Amino acid sequence: MTENNSIYFDSLGLAPELLKALTEAGYTKPTPIQAQAIPVALAGGDVMAGAQTGTGKTAAFALPVLQKLLPLASTSTSPAKHPIRALILTPTRELAIQVEESVKAYAKNTPLRSLVVFGGVDIKTQTPHLKTGVEILVATPGRLLDHVEQKTLTLGQVQMLVLDEADRMLDMGFMPDLKRILALLPKQRQNMMFSATFSNEIKKLSDDFLTKPTLIEVARSNATNDNVTQNVYHVAQRDKEALLIQLLKEASSSQVIVFTKTKLTASRLSRSLVKHGIAADAIHGDKSQKERIEALDAFKAGNIMALVATDVAARGLDISELPMVINYEIPSAPEDYVHRIGRTGRAGASGVAISLVSDDEEKYLVEIEKLIKKSIPKLIANIASSSARQPYEHEERAAKPAMHKASTTRRPTSHKKNVDPWFYQPYVPNTPKADENANNDSNNAFSKKPVGRNQKSPVATLLGGFKK
Ligand code: AMP
Repeated sequence: MTENNSIYFDSLGLAPELLKALTEAGYTKPTPIQAQAIPVALAGGDVMAGAQTGTGKTAAFALPVLQKLLPLASTSTSPAKHPIRALILTPTRELAIQVEESVKAYAKNTPLRSLVVFGGVDIKTQTPHLKTGVEILVATPGRLLDHVEQKTLTLGQVQMLVLDEADRMLDMGFMPDLKRILALLPKQRQNMMFSATFSNEIKKLSDDFLTKPTLIEVARSNATNDNVTQNVYHVAQRDKEALLIQLLKEASSSQVIVFTKTKLTASRLSRSLVKHGIAADAIHGDKSQKERIEALDAFKAGNIMALVATDVAARGLDISELPMVINYEIPSAPEDYVHRIGRTGRAGASGVAISLVSDDEEKYLVEIEKLIKKSIPKLIANIASSSARQPYEHEERAAKPAMHKASTTRRPTSHKKNVDPWFYQPYVPNTPKADENANNDSNNAFSKKPVGRNQKSPVATLLGGFKK
């Protein structure tokens, strides 16, 4: 975590209850986004902040929200004394959970109450908690509207609105939901918008929803973190799995998020990794909420080595000290590359981001390098034949992949692997529409639809069990 050297939290005018919680969380100094956004927000101004993941952006909006609500905090048990005063919208349920955990941690010494609501779980389980009254509600847009429809909450007293990861909300097609939600809020309110990338659409959203916002940008927009070593392997699609297995075995003590473009590939890949003796599980929108939370907990507890994830499912995950990210498929939207590799190298730690790029993905690589304004070093992989030919010999360690700078000649990748042919069935083609469908984890789009061959329901393919 890059800290701001000259400013301390107590000079920002935060209440002792909040400062105590920050000390307990081990924070000593505000990060740059916190040092810049907190004073603006405390003064009541709207904020448009561009901050990469891992910059401490959650506290940058959560602390001013809590500080401003403190004078209204009540110890009364009456729900009427705890109306929703701050609404924090996030694109995914995982991010919503994470944000609310942070809010709770910062509010722990205050009577302010918070709650998270998201889709994919029975709405009835959320209603009793809402009825007790909460000042800070963290929600995904679809589920929030479900609650509005069911009249299980009212938004008439919201005075602060936060749009977290606004760029992702737009990507996921939440604009109509956002418009509906905004129409339900009092006109007089403070708004904060956080986005990892600054596209023209984001600027337009900011023009529409914010009033004279202060623009805060702590890192070059669309920049990648210098702590992260990035590499590309040019590899044929059919050799990707063998190379991935090698890389994972090479990194045997580490934890890795493996990104795929589609839910289907994530499921197939995690299944195949487990067959190869690698503790893996998939996290994507066709998993039940319970399965996703279990997979995430198992990953955080170190019981799973490889978490295979789609962009949306992995968005906003804060897994401390994640040393490696592997792009099994590179994203067609270059901004997603920035988000993905932002999973590693967080809080000042170093990280490695490896991308497996096949010939037909090279066009996306060109766009990514254009966006991040640097060329990613290319490596050649010597894929050990044992990984390719003996998929069920789990115990045997694959030979280390030799990493060296690519020469102009590409390694021929002709050998055929003896692995489940199902894995190589074509997946959803690479069009924006297909990506959207493949990765859309929105609440309303949440579906229990079976995926894959024979319409099987997805199952957690976890090796080693979950820590309870
Ligand atoms: P975020 O960008 O909000 O997801 O935060 C990334 C990580 O940084 C989280 O684990 C936070 O708990 C941590 N963090 C946030 N603010 C600070 C701070 N001022 N000092 C140290 N760690 C922080």
